[in-house]
Amino acid sequence: MITIRDATVLYGDNLEEIKANVLISDGEIVEVSPASKGKVMDGRGCIVAPAFINSHVHLGDSVAMDMGDGKPIEEIVKPPEGIKHRILADTPHSIQTVFMKNSMWEMLKTGTTTFVDFREGGKEGIDIVNEAAEEIPIRKVVLGRDESFLNPHITPQEVSKRVEELLEICDGIAPSGLGEITDETAAAIARTTRKLGKLSATHVAEYEQVQTDSVNITGKTEVQRAVEAGFQLLIHFTSPLNDDLKVVARSGIPTVCCPRSNGTLAVGIPPIKEMLDESIQILLGTDNVMFNSPNMVREMEYALKVIRAYYREYFPPEEIIKMATVNAGKALKLNAGSISEGKLADLVIVEQISGNPYLSIINRTEPGNIKHVIREGQIVPVKSQ
Ligand SMILES: [Zn+2]
Repeated sequence: MITIRDATVLYGDNLEEIKANVLISDGEIVEVSPASKGKVMDGRGCIVAPAFINSHVHLGDSVAMDMGDGKPIEEIVKPPEGIKHRILADTPHSIQTVFMKNSMWEMLKTGTTTFVDFREGGKEGIDIVNEAAEEIPIRKVVLGRDESFLNPHITPQEVSKRVEELLEICDGIAPSGLGEITDETAAAIARTTRKLGKLSATHVAEYEQVQTDSVNITGKTEVQRAVEAGFQLLIHFTSPLNDDLKVVARSGIPTVCCPRSNGTLAVGIPPIKEMLDESIQILLGTDNVMFNSPNMVREMEYALKVIRAYYREYFPPEEIIKMATVNAGKALKLNAGSISEGKLADLVIVEQISGNPYLSIINRTEPGNIKHVIREGQIVPVKSQ
């Protein structure tokens, strides 16, 4: 048993600021109280927060950092001929693995203990990320895809078969977007994935053009089509059209926003204030390592400030931290993401630099201010990496 003593704890689903001790045993938080047992870690002057969850990343792109800057988005990321796809095709797997490992350690060093990866390249692609993560103490949720999904003539039965095969070695399925697959394929992916108790996700409404193309071709927005297909997680939502906000709110589907990625690609920012007003469950992700470091503190700071600048009004910092912790834990059905009894002990212990613990994390925390990253009760040896 370990006790983190006398820290400022961001407790429960509302990240309530309390002075308390956190008792950890067998990888779980057993008590948050004045008591202390077992080995004691001094938490004075520190904040204990839930470790961060990066809900959308493309680790495979780690090898293409900052390439293609200034080119149109389709030229950079649209499969199968985007710049990133060509770089990946030309890079040996052993090199890709090294870059992926570096990104995983960067996440741990900056307080992230869980990531959700969009993985290309079918079974082989999934094998690469699984192998890269083998000796790294980070929790991964790998969402694979198969090239055959892009074939407009593939039958739903064939899609289901491919999905079942992939799900033997990964945690879910994520096609790039509704622009590349038919609605029948989308529905077969979502249906089969749900039947097997796994996660389906897709990019939606990343920029205006994909939305207008979708409406022109199918009469529906990408968001409507993704919701109707039955996807369980939506990524981006930067350019909602028509009544997309209401559609997502009614569906209850959690949505991952990636404001730094949207900023890099000059496509706008998601309507995060309206999404919060509609009670949409908002998560945060750093998206392609090609555009951004997978550092969730940087994502949180950018998100908070760009929202305030865009709306010209106050936006609460604790809501931003929830997007990187509590909301993601719930949406991904992890027993993590908040500090309360019975949850997995996935925590960050950071120096409290200012009097406002939420802003101290968002505005001030550099990797050097993170004293410990704890995953399932074990201290992650980030300093030696
Ligand atoms: Zn993405």
